[in-house]
Amino acid sequence: VLDARSLRKSFGAHAVLKDISLRVERGELVSIIGPSGCGKSTFLRCLNLLEVPDGGVIRIEDVRVERQSGRGWTRADERQAHQLRAHVGMVFQSFNLFPQYTVLENVMLAPRCVRRRPTGETEAVARELLYKVGLVQAMDRYPQTLSGGQQQRAAIARALAMKPAVMLYDEPTSALDPELAEEVLQVMRALDNEGMTQIVVTHDMRFARAASDRVLYVEGGEIVEEGVPDTMFAAPHDARTRRFLRTLL
Ligand code: ATP
Ligand code: MG
Repeated sequence: VLDARSLRKSFGAHAVLKDISLRVERGELVSIIGPSGCGKSTFLRCLNLLEVPDGGVIRIEDVRVERQSGRGWTRADERQAHQLRAHVGMVFQSFNLFPQYTVLENVMLAPRCVRRRPTGETEAVARELLYKVGLVQAMDRYPQTLSGGQQQRAAIARALAMKPAVMLYDEPTSALDPELAEEVLQVMRALDNEGMTQIVVTHDMRFARAASDRVLYVEGGEIVEEGVPDTMFAAPHDARTRRFLRTLL
């Protein structure tokens, strides 16, 4: 589904990503953990080309984008980026729903305006997705009248409405109280059971351990260690991973 090779990204003299590669198979749930500032968000944003990497290759489904340092960003690149993003659903810590629209309208907006699907069809799909995330009752309400957990589930439904091949989450539960976070994590588990491909940056080690197929530990802009969760958490190989996990206890 997704194959990123040798991604590099610097901000000025600060090399934030130093040659990161990640291949994700269909249906996998991959968690990315690591200390603050290690480049997790930058990595996710590069996968989606919200941030343009300085170098590397990203392939998602049938779209392949290659970057070389020193090359500018052209109109053709922007078109390719657009195609790539069409395969990706992104969910942020801060929900980012449109406050002037109801939950249902939030979920219908992109398929109707970007994909030009007819209203009847987008509404049927949106209702189905809102049912899936447990928000049918709230679909005519405005985002600010919902709990954070409900808003985040609406944001997930909105991302799913574009039928992405892969979902990227950047700390989807960090702004939520534990019981509201749990509602969101349940939705992600249900999507995993349906075979959705998901990459999650998280500070929730319990979720990373219990729900992921694979965990990546990132530090200093590199993948220091990756593996199945039980091995990573019970017996990490790298001293840096051990140190990070120890500080969380
Ligand atoms: P956190 O866990 O706190 O969210 P993170 O692992 O997601 O951290 P990033 O947000 O990817 O880290 O940031 C990595 C580094 O890149 C940080 O030092 C940050 O200050 C820097 N950085 C990120 N975005 C930019 C930007 N647009 N311009 C300059 N520096 C940036
Ligand atoms: Mg971050």
